[in-house]
Amino acid sequence: MKTLITETDIRDGVARLADDLAVHYGDQPVTIIGVLTGSVVLLADLIRRLEMPLRIGLVYASSYRGEMTTRGPLTIDSDMLPDIAGRNVILVDDIFDTGHTLAEMLKLLGEHQPKSIRSVVLLRKLGRQEVNIQPDHAAFEIPDEFVVGYGLDYNDAYRNLRFIAVLEPGDLAEDSP
Ligand code: 5GP
Ligand code: MG
Repeated sequence: MKTLITETDIRDGVARLADDLAVHYGDQPVTIIGVLTGSVVLLADLIRRLEMPLRIGLVYASSYRGEMTTRGPLTIDSDMLPDIAGRNVILVDDIFDTGHTLAEMLKLLGEHQPKSIRSVVLLRKLGRQEVNIQPDHAAFEIPDEFVVGYGLDYNDAYRNLRFIAVLEPGDLAEDSP
């Protein structure tokens, strides 16, 4: 595989996201909603750079199936969603690709009467967008390639890489954990 974003660059990118959020919210309390499973690494790093009071909630969304690197139908499970009525909500996901996941999540969260909602992603893939919304904060723009690492998987593998990499044909044939 080929490194696309190094560990150091990711750290700087996450720091930029945290700075932007600090400017936007100041000391106001926020509820951070992480989209499982890909956002867990970003979520853990991002919250430790935020100084406002915060709560964490999680929702599960999945649009990739097994060994396919193309989208399958989107499934959202919001059973673990905390009460967000009247709260400043920050939705955190790993990557904005077609945008359907973020659009659906924002719609779902919006139905729970939050005070405000902003969206944060680590990566934004260029040339793939199919929806009318943009992430409010994105640390990096990347070309249209399938990436893994820092939470992002291929067939459940590679989430623990400290950097973001582009998979090459041989990698796709490897066994999943
Ligand atoms: P979207 O709904 O924007 O098309 O896709 C968002 C979701 O698809 C992300 O949360 C992520 O789980 C998955 N995804 C999109 N592009 C990639 C990619 O290049 N690599 C991996 N591992 N997952 C991706
Ligand atoms: Mg995802």
